[in-house]
This record gives sequence, C-alpha cells and structure tokens, in this order.
Amino acid sequence: MCGIVAYIGHRQAYPVIIKGLKRLEYRGYDSAGVALLNHGMKLYKKKGKVAALEETTLGQDLEGNIGIGHTRWATHGEPSDRNAHPHVSANGRLAMIHNGIIENYALLKQELVKKGYKFHSDTDTEVLLNFIEDIQKNNESTLEEALRIALKRVVGAYVIVLIDRDNPGTLIAARKGSPLVIGIGKGEHFLASDASPIIEYTKEVVYVNDYEIAIIKPDELILKNLGNERQTPFIQKLDLELAAIEKGGYDHFMLKEIFEQPSTIYDCLRGRLDVTQGTITMSGIQNNIDKIKNANRILIVACGTSWHAGLIAEYIIEELCRIPVEVEYASEFRYRNPVIHKGDMIIAISQSGETADTLVALENAKEQGAVILGIVNVVGSSIARLSHAGAYTHAGPEIGVASTKAFTAQLTVLTMVALMIAKERNAITHERYLHLLEELNDVPEKVKQVLGTAEHIQKVALKYKDVKDALYLGRGYNFPVALEGALKLKEISYIHAEGYPAAEMKHGPIALVDELLPVVFVATRDAYYEKIISNIQEIKARKGKVIAVITEADETITGMADDVLPVPEADELIAPIISTIPLQLFSYYIGVARGYDVDKPRNLAKSVTVE
Ligand code: GLU
Repeated sequence: MCGIVAYIGHRQAYPVIIKGLKRLEYRGYDSAGVALLNHGMKLYKKKGKVAALEETTLGQDLEGNIGIGHTRWATHGEPSDRNAHPHVSANGRLAMIHNGIIENYALLKQELVKKGYKFHSDTDTEVLLNFIEDIQKNNESTLEEALRIALKRVVGAYVIVLIDRDNPGTLIAARKGSPLVIGIGKGEHFLASDASPIIEYTKEVVYVNDYEIAIIKPDELILKNLGNERQTPFIQKLDLELAAIEKGGYDHFMLKEIFEQPSTIYDCLRGRLDVTQGTITMSGIQNNIDKIKNANRILIVACGTSWHAGLIAEYIIEELCRIPVEVEYASEFRYRNPVIHKGDMIIAISQSGETADTLVALENAKEQGAVILGIVNVVGSSIARLSHAGAYTHAGPEIGVASTKAFTAQLTVLTMVALMIAKERNAITHERYLHLLEELNDVPEKVKQVLGTAEHIQKVALKYKDVKDALYLGRGYNFPVALEGALKLKEISYIHAEGYPAAEMKHGPIALVDELLPVVFVATRDAYYEKIISNIQEIKARKGKVIAVITEADETITGMADDVLPVPEADELIAPIISTIPLQLFSYYIGVARGYDVDKPRNLAKSVTVE
C-alpha cells in the first residue's frame, strides 16, 4: 500500500515524481505530497488524489534536483492535508515518506513527548521521523548512523525515504517488509514502490532487500545492512514495456485488463504447455518435483481474490492428485499457531508478491520445515524470493485495484501445477491428462468469445445497477467463482453482495430472497448441473430475480432465468477461468454506471503491504 517515488540527479525532480505518483496511485490515493530540496526545503501536501496535489502546486516554486513524493493509504490518522506525507522533523531539517506501519509507535511517541516533542499529525510516520532526528541530535551522528540505530528499535514494516535539508546531495532509504526498487540512470537515481515510475528512464534496477539501507547520490548507490556492512547491489534488467502500464485507449485499466485476458492467459501457457508433445514444462516446479509430489498435505495460503483462486485449486488438486488440501486466509493462518509437519507443502498465491499477511505466514511456515511454492505475478517480489519453488503468472502489470487478469492467470498456473503433480504421481489417466491439456489450450479462444458478448453483459448489468444487495451462488468448481463474482461487485460498485455454496443458501440466506433481490447463479453444465437447477427453482419460487452464467445454448436455464450470460462449453475443471469473465464485466459496467472510479475504489489499495 502507498506509493513512494524519489529522485536525485540532473533533471527537475518534481515532474518525475508527479508522473511516478500517478503510476503508483493504484497503491493508495487518499492524499499525496512532495518535498523538494533547492536552497532549503519546499513541501506540498494535499488530501485527495495526485491531481489535487498538482492543483495546489500550480504557480509554486517547484525547482530542485532532489525530491521525495508519496501517495498515501491511511493507517494512522484520517486522510487529510496534515496527515499526508512527506512529514518534516521538529527541527525542520529532515523530510520523510513512509509505506507501512510502525507498530511500536505509541511507545516511541511517549518517549519523545517527554522530551518535549510536539506532533503535527496523527501518523506513526512522524513519530519515527522525530525518533531519528532525536538520535541524530543526541549522538551528533550522521543521518545514516541515526537511521541504523533507530531501525534497530522499530517494530513493523516499512519503506522509508529521507532527505536532509543540510545535505542536499543524498537520499537515504531503508526497507523491511514493503517493496522498494531503485532505478540506475546516468548520473541519476530513481526510487519507487514498483518499477512503473522508473521504466521510461532506465531498465537497470536494484530491488532493495529487507534490513538494508541505501545511501544514494546522483552517481553512487551504496547498500548496507543494519550492521553497517556494505552489500553488493544486484542489478537486474527490467522486463517491462511502457505500453503495459498505460490505458491504451480503454476508459479504465480494469476494462483493459479484462480484455487483455486472452493474451495474458496465452502468455501464461506459452512455452509451458505443449499439446502436441503432451507436456507441461515449468522449471520452478520440475526442479523441486520430488518434494512437491511427495507432499503429505498441501496448504494454500492467500488473501482476497488470490484466496478464491486457492479454493478452486483445492478442488482441482484433490480431484487430480489425491493429496489433501486446505485453503487458509493468510491473516488467520499466521496467528493461529497452525500444525505444520515436515513434508507439508505451502502454496502461496499473491498478485503483488508483497501481501504482508501472506509473506509473514510463509516465513513462519518455512521456519517449521514446510516447502514453499510461490504463485506470484510480480517478478522479483518478496514472496517470489522467499519461496523454494514457484511459477510466475506472467499477467503483466495489473493496475486496476480489483483483480481480474491476475486471477485468471493464477487459475491457469495452478491448473498446470496440479496436472504436473497428478502426472508425476500417476494419479491421472493419460487420456484425461491430454484432454485437460487441450482444454487449457483452448481457454484463450473461449475467453475471447465471452468478451465478444460484452455489449449483452452491459445491457444486463444496467438493469441491475440500482440494486442494494446481490447473492451469488455456485456449486463445486463454480462455488469459488460465485465468491469472486460477489467480491468484484462489492469492490467496485459498493453494492453489498455475498457468495455462497448454492445448497448452503437454504441454511440462512434464502431468508433474504424477495422480488427485489438479484441472485447470480454460476450454472455452467457440470456434475452439479441438475442440483443447481433445483436451486434456481427454489429462488424463482420465492420471486427472486435470477441472472445465470450458463453454458451456451442451455435452453433449460434460459427458460427459467430472468437474464443469462452464456459462455462456451468447457471441462468443469477448466470452466472457472471462463465463467469468471462475464462476472468481471457485469461488475465493471455496474460500477461505471453508478459513477464510481472503478480503477481506484474507495478505501481499497492494490498491494496490501500492511496486515
Ligand atoms: N502508516 C503511515 C500513515 O498512516 C503510512 C501509510 C501508507 O503506507 O501509506 O500515514
């Protein structure tokens, strides 16, 4: 959460920072600010989006070749001008931006208040900043030394970047638990929460590791650990094109990302799935296949949409591999003292690879001897680096806050992983294996066909745009699809929606059904087909409105439902990747029709780096 950008070099810092903050706005957008050094410090902060900050800075002095900028996702203190970052230390010398939470801020604050410090914001950030200033003053130390001492006492997660009015040639940054990338230019450096603000200036980047401090001058980058030992920066080449992070003619990133799915799923399969040879090649999995195939149990750990991908994977892996699977919310798993045995395998799913709860859950499980398999989208992210084995989803940057293409790419990778394990364990017949390879291979084309019905989906969506609640029901593989459909609707249209296993509705939610309640059924033809028809009848008998995702040309359900969203026929195990598409579009069109910013829904942020 929160976007960080900083610059030092020969350019004007302000335009680089503002452009970068706009690219990072998906990470947090309740307020924004920038601090520049040029014969003193200049500070501009504003509640609201980056555009509001830009308005405030119109006509102001924005000169300076060094600066820091921030777009906030509030944790401590309401979104407001005074809580916006950067914060300035009591003596006016230091300015700092921060992503994360300082958990022991209250204790540190007490100590500082006793010493006479006054605070101008409610943030934990200002506490850490003054704590650093205090150490620097008392020990007459350099900022770098003071930071090192301070960070040894800090509990929590952070990326921080500091500038010092009296030393305008240096940026100092540190990280633990949140992401920080440094772009290396010629006589200049760019810092950001992800590579998107950096990409147009340089492709050479360094990912800073936990517990590292970076001392950055225009032509020098020094990395040190908290023990003051120099670390060798590992320079990587970015594999990212500018077009991937721009809207490219679409009204919203979300719509662009929905429409990208035929190619993102294809990219995910490319070079891995070979139907003619009947093979799946994923070296990250293959290299660790003995440990993976002999797992006694698989635990899938994730949050949000990734957790829904995990639920579908549970059904697939149990069916194909006959290994018991449990799916866990990372936030519960990490605090629950779970029983983990040697030989257990953890599959971690995260788009960003930085999800705080998932990350810590994995660290704990790793210590207890579990094998970690990471399924992440962002290359080089923390979860990717922490995992023993893994597979990238190759969906490209996902900027819309509500996940779409990352979800379908996760399902694609998880299905391939399941098929690889099933084959190694001899748990699947060759015919079924080949059939599923073919089905997977056909997914991009079938997704394209669904996208071709967008106009129809929009018409249906507009009929329901003013509802207050919605129920989403499915059985088997389609149950998690229903959960994901409900989540999408909540996220971007602010309509209360709940997902349930269709049969479970009789144990409570059916009480909600009346002539106003739309019930969305995910009712493609599968082993549960007859059962779900009964559930549709039960809703119709109570005058509920039924919208059904159906297999195309299904006359039976078409005759019962108020509206249908047809998708091409697919094996039930593969169908979720396809049946989720109409539900993404359904939510998108409702969110837009209600006038909301679907790319940046209120209160949400993309990469949840706080717990
Ligand atoms: N905890 C800090 C605050 O509330 C930083 C939040 C963020 O990551 O944006 O201001």
